[in-house]
Amino acid sequence: MKLIFEKNVKGRDGYSLPQDLFDDVNIGDCVPNYALAEGKKELCEVSEVDVVRHFTRSSKLNYGIDDGIYPLGSCTMKYNPKINEKLASLDSFAYAHPLAPEETVQGSLQIMYELGKLLCEITGVDQYTMAPAAGAHGELTGILMVRKYFADRNENRHKILVPDSAHGTNPASTIMGGFEVVEIESNEHGTVDIHKLSELMDEDTAGLMLTNPNTVGLYDPEIDEIQKIVHAKGGLLYYDGANLNASFGLFRPGDGGFDIVHLNLHKTFSTPHGGGGPGAGVIGVKEPLIPYLPTPIVTLDGEKYQLSDVGPKSIGMIRAFWSNFPVLLKSYAWILSMGADGLREATRTSVINANYVLAKLKQYYRPAYDGYCGHECTLTGRDYKKYGIKTLDIAKRLMDYGLHPPTIYFPHFEPYAEETLMVEPPESESKEDIDNFIEVMIKIAAEAEANPDLLLTAPHNTRIKRADDVLAAKRPILHYDDELKIKDELGYTEANIDF
Ligand SMILES: *Cc1c(COP(=O)(O)O)cnc(C)c1O
Repeated sequence: MKLIFEKNVKGRDGYSLPQDLFDDVNIGDCVPNYALAEGKKELCEVSEVDVVRHFTRSSKLNYGIDDGIYPLGSCTMKYNPKINEKLASLDSFAYAHPLAPEETVQGSLQIMYELGKLLCEITGVDQYTMAPAAGAHGELTGILMVRKYFADRNENRHKILVPDSAHGTNPASTIMGGFEVVEIESNEHGTVDIHKLSELMDEDTAGLMLTNPNTVGLYDPEIDEIQKIVHAKGGLLYYDGANLNASFGLFRPGDGGFDIVHLNLHKTFSTPHGGGGPGAGVIGVKEPLIPYLPTPIVTLDGEKYQLSDVGPKSIGMIRAFWSNFPVLLKSYAWILSMGADGLREATRTSVINANYVLAKLKQYYRPAYDGYCGHECTLTGRDYKKYGIKTLDIAKRLMDYGLHPPTIYFPHFEPYAEETLMVEPPESESKEDIDNFIEVMIKIAAEAEANPDLLLTAPHNTRIKRADDVLAAKRPILHYDDELKIKDELGYTEANIDF
């Protein structure tokens, strides 16, 4: 498919204005000199129909959450109400300038303030910052606060404990924050090994970062024991709640003893995750950590909302201006529209959906551990290796049935390292769509045995057939010329690739 620039036809345009109205206008009289370009820019000359067809066609080449189930484990790819996008694009919010005087943006400040209060209620902490732009950014913010907190107490703690079942950003943020990562291996149930934790937790350790449910979708049943061990040695507990859709309404991390909580409002609270768009990795803390929050925070003085400096102990600003405000707005609208009962129901539904998939598929895609899961289930395709089939082939074959594959080959620590499949059917999926996914997965299991070639050469029904994954990552086609060159080099024909 050509880029829109390659559809250029000299002299074609997308508008027509009555010439006689503009004959006498000299552009230099209307626009200041500095804003006038020298020479003519090479802009794309296309008609309105060309533009509409180009982008409509491009949009149909892709698979999105509005097409069908998108069961990417660890990602929470769920349908989010379109009305929240509409709210976030209302002029009075979208055009509010970040440097506007506070009295002119009281509505925006009020939303940030009230969202903070709602999140405190949902997670059981005392104050939120809305500043971090994504999950990993929130983690770094939390870790920098931990560092400042101990520096302030003249305690030289230089290590942080991170279970091997944590999200990969946890050890990365720990190191960026200047700490040493100490990994805790999981026990035979796939959760934190309490004995190893007690051995490792000492006075040189600042605390523990816990992803719960962890990256394989398991709740840790020993949270109370964990928090006692860490707190007994003076450490802090950090809760990675990026996947709070597995617990909100049922469990409050603050009540479980956590001192710092991070949420991914994108993922869980009505902003699509995955497109690389704006996020909000908000951080909530218990009272003793409030002085260390990034500055400013929104406070209420009488009836006036304001951006207040946090004070001398603050870690400072972690980004320009306030936050990715539209993400906050969507979360606020979503929480209010769901209500407390709705949130609890969403959690229950996503956990039931995942366990339903697990129960129906476990005899075909043997899980690494027995038992129930949280909001996502970890299966494996290891039993099909004897037919020469890898999990990758199963994922490719799913595309032939018009479904998006789940996450594969993640996580990569034992005992999951072999042919893993992670399925997350979030609360917005209907039983019919989940049943269809299950049926297709069972059909593919039968195909793997009876006709492995069908899987090894899949997908057959998509525009791009079996791609060379390494080449696709190393030499992405960003321009029509690249496409021609690569086609030529590799001797691709229309039969095996349809651009
Ligand atoms: C997605 C995720 C993160 C990272 O969030 P980003 O917004 O992608 O930086 C951290 N922890 C967990 C558990 C996650 O699922």
